[in-house]
Amino acid sequence: MQADATQANRSEPDPDRPEAFRSAVREWLAVNCPESMRSPWRTEADVCWGGRGWEFQSADQRLWLERMAARGWTAPGWPREYGGGGLDRERAKILKEELARIHARPPLMSFGISMLGPALLKFGSEEQKRQHLPPVVRGEIRWAQGYSEPNAGSDLASLQARCEDRGDHFILNGSKIWTSYGDFADWMFCLVRTDSGARKQAGISFVMFDMATLGVTTRPIRLISGKSPFTETFFEDVRVEKDQVIGGLNQGWTVAKYLLTHEREMIAGAGLSSAGSTPLSKTAVHRLDTENGVLRNSALRADIARFEMDEQCLDLTIERARDETQAGASLGAFASMFKYYGTELNMRRQELLMAIGGYDSLVWEGGDSDDGHMPKSWLRSKGNSIEGGTSEIQLNIVAKHILGLPG
Ligand SMILES: Cc1cc2nc3c(=O)[nH]c(=O)nc-3n(C[C@H](O)[C@H](O)[C@H](O)COP(=O)(O)OP(=O)(O)OC[C@H]3O[C@@H](n4cnc5c(N)ncnc54)[C@H](O)[C@@H]3O)c2cc1C
Repeated sequence: MQADATQANRSEPDPDRPEAFRSAVREWLAVNCPESMRSPWRTEADVCWGGRGWEFQSADQRLWLERMAARGWTAPGWPREYGGGGLDRERAKILKEELARIHARPPLMSFGISMLGPALLKFGSEEQKRQHLPPVVRGEIRWAQGYSEPNAGSDLASLQARCEDRGDHFILNGSKIWTSYGDFADWMFCLVRTDSGARKQAGISFVMFDMATLGVTTRPIRLISGKSPFTETFFEDVRVEKDQVIGGLNQGWTVAKYLLTHEREMIAGAGLSSAGSTPLSKTAVHRLDTENGVLRNSALRADIARFEMDEQCLDLTIERARDETQAGASLGAFASMFKYYGTELNMRRQELLMAIGGYDSLVWEGGDSDDGHMPKSWLRSKGNSIEGGTSEIQLNIVAKHILGLPG
């Protein structure tokens, strides 16, 4: 790990004064965030995912991760004893604002941080937290999510991957599907059936294992874009250690649901400008005809203005909900509401980007559209309404748990 770039920045900000913390963060970022990391990311390929096999795209990308991880700021709200930043909500928000102010890229994109970590913090044993959380903060281990199966997507509790008890360990057989980046992951958190006789939700456990374990194989699933962000994952007599069950045997459904609320919150906010994407108005002004800095196309101008107001509303509403929730806790059913709205908004963003790009946005490879970045991102955004639970399922949850409508 490389230390901070300046002597001055080694001093910790005064924890009692938020504004002093803001100045210290601003000063630290000015020195420590490499220039090339201060531009919005366009595709998932622009950000660092970490893991054993990760090849840094630049020296700056490595430096940015190392510096942020050394402060625990890849997971600002996690306790310091597990490598996190130990920041309270107010200071974590300040850090987020200061990063957005300089358009800093996230130093690390990680299912370990956005999904597994919150579940481990709530349900994990002390030993499990100490084993798994610090490597996640440092971006050393990349995680995959083993939830969906060919016949268990929306009806997740029907899953059939099965762990048999063999004394001090389990033997896992079965398969998963749509495992995002399963072929790049080092470890998997996975839902398995450990009691076939129980009611379906009651017989599930939440387990973790190294993807290099004998008997784990992945097969890429190729998409229309030519890319393969998913795999099918197969388990043939895979050894799973008993100390890698989180939350207790047959208690996995509770852990799984809790993790999903964090996943949905992450997906809800992923497309927002505050998460590092370029504001639409800025892109439009850069690419299209303007008069005195104002877009000539009034219809598009109105659509963009409406979009940016809705985006701001969602951002503020998520922040308010977070403020009203205990630090680190789940947003519960509200995560479904935000996931639904956030993904609708992101799909609108991509539609508007296509409109802004005009003919250029149709170019699949080469040209102004950065090697098909625009149409591929537009197509990718359709998946937002499916991943983490489909929009229909989110609306069902909102109807039942927020509006109190009969099921
Ligand atoms: C980009 C992306 C990344 C993903 N990454 C992962 C991953 O890393 N790990 C993982 O485990 N999974 C992953 N998934 C899988 C995802 O969780 C499932 O696709 C999703 O839960 C839907 O399941 P399904 O595809 O089996 O569709 P189905 O459940 O078969 O649904 C088909 C259709 O029926 C509708 N439907 C089903 N039940 C109901 C109901 N009760 N009420 C109303 N409508 C209903 C659905 O809304 C949908 O339109 C990913 C998916 C995508 C698109």
